[in-house]
Amino acid sequence: MTTTEDVYTDGIAGLMLDDETHSMSERARRHLWMHFSRMGSYSTDAEIPIMVRGEGAYVYDSRGNRYLDGISSLFTTQLGHGRRDLAEAGRLQAEKLAYYPVWTYAHPMAIDLAERLAGLAPGDLNRVFFTTGGSEAVESAWKLARQYHRLRGDHDRYKVISRDIAYHGTTMGALTITSVIPYRTPFEPLVPGAVKVPNTNLYRADAQHRDDAEAFGLWSADQIEAALLREGPETVAAVFVEPVQNAGGCFTPPPGYFKRLREICDTYGVLLVSDEVICAFGRLGTWFGGQKYDYVPDIITCAKGITSGYAPLGAMIVSDRIAEPFLEADNTFLHGITFAGHPVSCAIALKNIEIIEDEKILEHVLATQDYFFEQLSALRSLPIVGDIRGTGFFWGIELVRDQETRETFTHDEAERLLRGFVSPEMFRRGLICRSDDRGDPVVQLAPPLICGTEEINFMVGTIQEVLTEAINLH
Ligand code: PLP
Repeated sequence: MTTTEDVYTDGIAGLMLDDETHSMSERARRHLWMHFSRMGSYSTDAEIPIMVRGEGAYVYDSRGNRYLDGISSLFTTQLGHGRRDLAEAGRLQAEKLAYYPVWTYAHPMAIDLAERLAGLAPGDLNRVFFTTGGSEAVESAWKLARQYHRLRGDHDRYKVISRDIAYHGTTMGALTITSVIPYRTPFEPLVPGAVKVPNTNLYRADAQHRDDAEAFGLWSADQIEAALLREGPETVAAVFVEPVQNAGGCFTPPPGYFKRLREICDTYGVLLVSDEVICAFGRLGTWFGGQKYDYVPDIITCAKGITSGYAPLGAMIVSDRIAEPFLEADNTFLHGITFAGHPVSCAIALKNIEIIEDEKILEHVLATQDYFFEQLSALRSLPIVGDIRGTGFFWGIELVRDQETRETFTHDEAERLLRGFVSPEMFRRGLICRSDDRGDPVVQLAPPLICGTEEINFMVGTIQEVLTEAINLH
């Protein structure tokens, strides 16, 4: 068995061969700056995993090993890997018009996709501003909210409210909205005006609310009102929330949460931004979070699954009401990004949406989510499993030191458990999933939406094996 010491690194210890893969790993170690990676921990006896190919729900590394992509390559590959139809859509567009900006001009793919997204989004969210990814969409939404208020004469509204532990991206504005403290600290001071409120972690709610999800939902939403009143509502531009919060491990909204939050935002004239960089395009079994939880935000930010990862793209989908002041006289949203709305990416996104419809992917996710949950629920028999939460194809398994008391692990223990054992062991057994200790330790699953019972059984079985061994480590 691989021991903690062998693999306490982001690389994978294994048999080192002096071959092409080894040389690629060395070149990566020398030249490639991997994101959010402890580069110093890639020691010479731990090869960097190099993915070379994908097919359906699986990816293959340069040594020919196959892995189930249980986290959809960072919540992105909704339709899985290696699809000719998506690749072909990109190729055809590249031949026709590889690139033209959407600054002042338009091109057919951006027009078609904007219209398509407007048709899929809830309510009157009919205006689409493209970006190249999620952080830019979030950054753009905060800027839009601030300029919107200014255009209406509300010059003091600049602050932004977001929830504890939430991740909303890494550019300075988005990072300010992000609440993962270690990601923020090295870059402080950030943009002024960030206000933090509790998230919707029912499992960790106080005793008063733990057994009453509805009361907890109202309490959680009311914390936003309390923050608004503390700050002065006339200073707050927007509230950013995910339909299901990813960081911390798939916190679903308690009943009544979004209804109350919508009321609060309307009462105080604050924009409600639904950050759906992960949750849109079928991850929850609907196009957007509003359709799952019955709310209409003012702005949706999205990215990732919009193209199933076949090209980079993000978008901010804006209500007619918020767009309206920008359509008057000489007003302009003073913001733009060269590659936003890239024709190749838009063509792929259109094809992606067409396939999601044709292959009834949303229906499949909705029909399979209960089976997914039932299989995961079997893990509760392991004393290390505290909570299982999520929806659609987006699940978190919270690990605890004591199931009864819900006592969690210390930071060092969580690191040793997740990075030192659980992640590398799953990987060794052919499953890529996420072990996350940004909040309490969780293992997350968010596989491609094409997965069926066979893949779900494999994922749950592998987690069961690894967690059973993990219990013996402690
Ligand atoms: N918002 C949310 C909710 C996210 O999950 C992410 C990324 O995971 C982002 C924003 C940032 O997106 P990107 O990495 O495409 O910049």
